[in-house]
Amino acid sequence: MSKVKSSETVKVVVRCRPLNRKEAAGVTGTPGGKGGIVEMDVHRGQVVLRNPHALPGEPQKTFTFDSVYDASSKQRDLYDETVRPLIHSVLDGFNGTIFAYGQTGTGKTYTMQGAWLEPERRGVIPNAFEHVFTQISRSAADRQYLVRASYLEIYREEIRDLLDPNVHAPHVPNVHTQPPHILELRESPESGVYVRDLTSCVCKSVKEIEELMNVGNQVRSVGATDMNEHSSRSHTLFLITVECSQTGPEGRQHIRVGRLNLVDLAGSERQAKTGVHGERLKEAAKINLSLSALGNVISALADGRSGHVPYRDSKLTRLLQDSLGGNAKTVMVATLGPAPQHYEETLTTLRYANRAKNIKNQPRVNEDPKDALLREFQKEIARLRAQLSHREGRGKHRKEDGCDGEGDEEGEEEVEKERNLQEERLEEEKEAIREDGSLLAVEKQRLLGEKEIMMGDLRKERDTTEQLTAKYKVMESKLLVGGRNILDHTNEQQKTLEKRRQEIAEQSRREREILQQVMVQDEETLELRETFSSLQQEVEAKTKKLKKLYARLQCVKAEIQDVNDEHVRSRQELEQTQNELTRELKFKYLIIENFIPPEEKNKIMNRLTFDPEEDQWKFQLLPPSESQMKKRLASAVGYKRPISQYARVALAMGAHSRYRVGE
Ligand code: ADP
Ligand code: MG
Repeated sequence: MSKVKSSETVKVVVRCRPLNRKEAAGVTGTPGGKGGIVEMDVHRGQVVLRNPHALPGEPQKTFTFDSVYDASSKQRDLYDETVRPLIHSVLDGFNGTIFAYGQTGTGKTYTMQGAWLEPERRGVIPNAFEHVFTQISRSAADRQYLVRASYLEIYREEIRDLLDPNVHAPHVPNVHTQPPHILELRESPESGVYVRDLTSCVCKSVKEIEELMNVGNQVRSVGATDMNEHSSRSHTLFLITVECSQTGPEGRQHIRVGRLNLVDLAGSERQAKTGVHGERLKEAAKINLSLSALGNVISALADGRSGHVPYRDSKLTRLLQDSLGGNAKTVMVATLGPAPQHYEETLTTLRYANRAKNIKNQPRVNEDPKDALLREFQKEIARLRAQLSHREGRGKHRKEDGCDGEGDEEGEEEVEKERNLQEERLEEEKEAIREDGSLLAVEKQRLLGEKEIMMGDLRKERDTTEQLTAKYKVMESKLLVGGRNILDHTNEQQKTLEKRRQEIAEQSRREREILQQVMVQDEETLELRETFSSLQQEVEAKTKKLKKLYARLQCVKAEIQDVNDEHVRSRQELEQTQNELTRELKFKYLIIENFIPPEEKNKIMNRLTFDPEEDQWKFQLLPPSESQMKKRLASAVGYKRPISQYARVALAMGAHSRYRVGE
């Protein structure tokens, strides 16, 4: 493994959905608005945002990204250009993350999931499932894979396991109404931040993993009074872990582990906080805590100057710590709506995305981690195989002094045959004993008993072997082996088509990169060309340059104004929240000061400690009090416990009537 840390930036792409029917009706009604406010230059990877309330002469806002997808873009385009390379990397042992960010209703879920049943409109997640398993089936035969999946949701800063088997056990009635467990985050030096007790299911096929996703989606909607509101306020993470083992040139097995996070974030719009109290206020403050923390993390990383990155501020940022500025390849899909009424939000999304472009990650292949599950599976399979072949060996040994137990299926059959033979022989012997007139009845019984025991042993052995074989088969079926084209029904023509499509995607990506470079160079050369043949020419050139610089100055000024406005707005919101919180605090104080005895209050205060891991105040266990600390009396010699003089005499007197204790 190379020790050189290569770094790469977070890949940021922007997608704009078409105007929906309602918006289209509104837009055509607005004077001057022909369509949406978002214009995209797909070849250059540029987005131009038109301000519907622009003052005359106000420059348009232009942003450049790795790629942009306009309203006519297909799910496949985004997948082939942007996601496919990432999935390849995950299969090679890198960590990968794709997250969709944007206002509610701009197409985050459409991009991540899409319409599952329509091949053309399937989103990133179903396409990635298909891709992972196809790729495994096409890989070299010396590779073994183990694929696992987990699905979780962060809602109001609580992590819920969407695959919790206790929540959706199909045979338990009414169990659906029970919400999933709330899980905790933990951190360990080896595996970084992880979710404790998160269910992780081994998947052998696309069908199985899709089934998991469906189950999780169902659990998600359980208990949500309004699914639309719930989904716009919660973050979902689908995690796929792909472990791959391959024999290296020196004959040793290497395991690489790639983790893929597929993230659908909550809607980025501001939640109106005015006029909410109590519980509702707490909720409002918590809903977007993860999202605003994500914003702060991105700003801190993009800025590069501030040393402290506030990952610990929210659950989401802790979970995505590796994906932002760490060991992962990350793609951010920012989704936009083209409607003029959402200009502000759209601009904020673009700014956000623009900032994320500067985040540098250090992805590396995760090789031979200590906690690879694949290795444990392999060990267990080897152990079971050894046990089985030992049994087979023993079976054969009885018959013809053993031969080695290669060829599982044949061996099994032979052993089975051998066992049947033995059983038949025992039956015959039993029959012979029964019919043998020369034996005494007692003797007969004894011999029959012996044979019975032998039969019992034989059966027990068979049961154990059957159990072992079943276990072995289950374990082995979980490991996927490369080169087995079970899923790959595609014919050669389709494969070529797929390859061509990938080549085209790669080509257009490169073209865009070159175009973007040319644009940058153009500006530079314009500044460098200093020799002029005439004064007139010089004036012209300089005027042009001046104009350009002036336009840029205007852009920057507008930008400063916007950023200032945004700051003012968010400060006002924070102040509002603070006011609400202070008011609530005063209320609580009033109750405490007036209705709770001071000594009780002090007792409680002294016992409370804050647990930063769980973000909660906790009661400390009371130290045992003085009276409880008193040592128990030592027992009198010969007696089990201290005993009174009276009882002692009573005991000594036996059943003397004077000392009889009432019964
Ligand atoms: P979000 O998850 O961001 O709240 P959705 O994915 O639910 O938004 O999208 C809102 C609506 O817009 C859905 O009805 C969806 O089908 C539609 N939509 C979103 N993006 C596109 C797109 N690129 N093409 C066509 N329809 C889209
Ligand atoms: Mg959604």
